[in-house]
Amino acid sequence: MQTVTVLGATGSIGCNTLDVINRHPEKYRTFAITGNGQLELLMQQAQKCSPRFVVVADEARYKEACTLATEYNITAEILCGAKALEDVSCAAEIDTVMAAIVGAAGLLPTLAAVKAGKKVLLANKEALVMSGALFIDAATQSGAEILPIDSEHNAIFQCLPQGYEYGELEKAGISKILLTGSGGPFRERELSSFNAITIDEASSHPNWSMGRKITIDSATMMNKGLEFIEACWLFGASPDDIQVVVHPQSFIHSMVQYVDGSVIAQLGNPDMRTPIAYGLAYPSRIDAGVKPLDFSDMANFSFETPCFTRYPNLKLAIDACREGQAATTRLNAANEIAVASFLEGKIGFTDIAVVNEETLNKMEPVTVSSIQQILEQDTAARAAADQVIRGKFTC
Ligand code: NDP
Ligand code: MG
Repeated sequence: MQTVTVLGATGSIGCNTLDVINRHPEKYRTFAITGNGQLELLMQQAQKCSPRFVVVADEARYKEACTLATEYNITAEILCGAKALEDVSCAAEIDTVMAAIVGAAGLLPTLAAVKAGKKVLLANKEALVMSGALFIDAATQSGAEILPIDSEHNAIFQCLPQGYEYGELEKAGISKILLTGSGGPFRERELSSFNAITIDEASSHPNWSMGRKITIDSATMMNKGLEFIEACWLFGASPDDIQVVVHPQSFIHSMVQYVDGSVIAQLGNPDMRTPIAYGLAYPSRIDAGVKPLDFSDMANFSFETPCFTRYPNLKLAIDACREGQAATTRLNAANEIAVASFLEGKIGFTDIAVVNEETLNKMEPVTVSSIQQILEQDTAARAAADQVIRGKFTC
């Protein structure tokens, strides 16, 4: 029996995780679930999976959560705030943490799980993009097992040779990691009409159903940029080891190319329950409730090279990856501000990349070597991005 904390239970990954867990009550027990704004959903989830703790991230909503918990007859203890998120991530009773909070807010609880040596199912890519070497070092020191949930990284993990040693691509005979991406909803749209892209248009992904922020990141391909950085850290690869390949159908979730010319790919329907089930059961396999691929149904299977004019955020992320930790932390922070501003209607779609680039250009180079310094860079970049937005896009 594995005991699991689900951080970000009310999100897209969180709901899919509870779906897989609920299919296997004999294998998984839920210790804690956490949410932020969706309190009713959180209570409904608590009714179904009977965790010991329900954590509300937003302290201001504690009373409301307690009232709802009484209405829903929840017996779990209700906790709130950042410390509680960390406590349920490193508790002695748990084996596994699903890290599925979106954005920088997930960094500290995810790190708490890593430092406590847990099995960490990593969906929250921003946490790794922000903290890179510190995150990986903490895992090495504690013995935490990091299993990638992002579908591409989960695919790459499945395509690596058994016993792959971190950073030893050459020794393993690997010539390239081929990171696939659909190209999002605007792959074929006229570039001249990009500044007319609406929030609704950017919020509908052709293949995947996901949370709001990652859906916008997929439309700008910042998501692939963050994944590029994520892949470097997860597998100890350098930027030259990774190639982004646009594969609009999203059946191949990524590939590993070997020096003998072989390419190993992982395929499946675009359903996050596959990587989630893989992470939960690793190294075994369990039913995830996912429809099997039907090869008679696949009309097209195509590939393209991404165009940086269409996807400037992808280039910004690859450049930041080459530059180092401060740049990726800043880019992630600026992007969170830019995406939120786009979703609030304050800036246009193409302005997201402008805000990101100008924020990076405004800031002096520094080196960061502690979580404290990373959090400072995150805060400074958010302020710089806000300033760019106020100066440029509001009258
Ligand atoms: P959602 O927006 O659907 O869910 C985010 C979760 O985080 C919710 O539970 C939300 O709570 C919670 N949350 C939001 N803000 C805070 C905060 N300040 N403090 C604590 N908790 C907070 O996101 P997704 O599930 O789509 O994505 C989660 C992570 O997984 C992201 O990092 C994303 O990049 C990654 N990922 C997602 C994939 C997908 O298919 N969805 C695929 C690959 C990676 P509430 O809803 O209650 O407000
Ligand atoms: Mg992905």
